[in-house]
Order: sequence, then structure tokens, then C-alpha cells
Amino acid sequence: MKISLNQNSSSKSFKWKIPLLVCLILAFSSVMVFAFYQKFTDDIPVLMYHSVKEKKTSEVVLTKKTFDKQLKYLKTNGFKTLTLDELYDYIKNGKEIPRKSVVLTFDDGYKDNYEIVYPLLKQYGFKATIFVQTNKIDKDKHFLTTEQIKELAKSGIEIGSHTVSHQDLATLSYEDQYKELADSKATLEKIIDKPVKYLAYPYGSCNEDSKKISKELGYLGAIGILDKYTNKESDGFEISRRAVIEDMDNFLGKVEKNNYYMTKYKVRKLFRIIKSKL
Ligand SMILES: [Zn+2]
Repeated sequence: MKISLNQNSSSKSFKWKIPLLVCLILAFSSVMVFAFYQKFTDDIPVLMYHSVKEKKTSEVVLTKKTFDKQLKYLKTNGFKTLTLDELYDYIKNGKEIPRKSVVLTFDDGYKDNYEIVYPLLKQYGFKATIFVQTNKIDKDKHFLTTEQIKELAKSGIEIGSHTVSHQDLATLSYEDQYKELADSKATLEKIIDKPVKYLAYPYGSCNEDSKKISKELGYLGAIGILDKYTNKESDGFEISRRAVIEDMDNFLGKVEKNNYYMTKYKVRKLFRIIKSKL
């Protein structure tokens, strides 16, 4: 009788363990599927850089070492860089692009884009666009000069507008927005002697007026930030970009569209925060 009671209770507890085990296996599988899920979609990573220097001096600076590592990764893993014309041809006309496509963009027009970025782009044979804030040209030693912009444009780097004075367009009147977008376009066109077709909104901020004025002035498209991928459904006058930071996992997660790297990055970031609080 004693034995039978024991058998009964052990079979009861075993019955409880089965659903628990199933739940654990399902939860574990879901985490693994999420972590290793790679988006084989038509989404394109449009990457946003600013300054690239030997040493990291501020939030917007990426070190030359990391930048070189990123370009090397793109090259050895078969990525192709698209010009904005190619990106827009894909968005608007459905023109075919390589499956591993990526767009490289640089905001503000820092001098290091000429001194550090440009030689590396040449070395790897990559295309890129630099969005220039025009009131800094020849006036601030940290920013590009007229001659440097000319040379970059001649070599095939696309030059876009980043307005005249880098103000948040959404906070400006229609007239002031118009001036920012028209004057910067005219200044750059005079320097590079060809049409300036694209612009990047400072801080990624815009409103309906910004889009209307851009179209009226003959821009073919405009770039925001939004931190999403770009695809055929994207608004051509508010293309999303993904910011690049000093972290390879974060970069790999964005270009490979792979949650594994992003999860790794987020877990490491979480541990760093916890450690700093202890
Ligand atoms: Zn900017």
C-alpha cells in the first residue's frame, strides 16, 4: 500500500513536470528563433555617420579603427554600396538592387570626411553621400572647405544639402524653411557645378512644409532619421536612417538585419548599466 501511494504521488508530480518542460522548451526555442532570426527582406540599411577621427572625442565621433573595421566587414561579406540615385530608383521604380545593399551617409560636412573617410572609401571602392551644412564652409576649421567639397564631388562622392544653419526645420516658419533649403542648394551647386538632388533634415526633423518646399525646389528626395530600414513603401521625402555607433555588434545587427547581434549588444549594454549602478 505504501509503495502504491509513492508511485501515485511520483506519477502526479511527473504529470506536472511535462507541461512545465514543454513550456520551457517552447520559451527557449522562441528566444533562439528571435535571436537568430535574420530578415531576408528587401529592407535596406541606410546608415548615418557624422565624424570619423583617430580618437573618440564626442558622441557623434566614430574612431577610424572602427570605421575601417566596418568597411572591411562590408567588403569581405559581399555588401554593395548604393548611391542615393540607385536607392530612389529602387524605391520609386522597383529597379533591382543587390540583396546585400547598404547606403552610407555622412552628416554636417566635417573636415575628417575628406581627411579620413574619403581615402578609406576609395580604398574599399565604396560610394557615399555627404550632407553639408553650408554656413560652415571655409568659416570653421573643423568643417569642409570649398576646395575639398569640389574634389569630393569630382571623385564621385555625392554632395547633399544639410541646410544653411542646421536649425530644426519643423520649428521654422515657411519662409525661413524655404531660405534654409534654397540657399544651401544654391551654394553647393555653385561649388560642385552640378545639381544638388538630395537633402538631410537636421536632427531628422521635418514637417509637411519641409517636404513641400523640398519638392518645389527640385530636390528628388530627403532623408530623416527614424531608425528604421528603408524599402519600397518608404516616404521618399523622409527616408529613414540608422545611426552607426562605436560598437560592432550594433553595426552588424543593423547591416545584417539580424537580431542575434542586436540582442548581444543590448545585453552587454544592460550589464554595463547595472555595473555602473553598483
Ligand atoms: Zn546634422
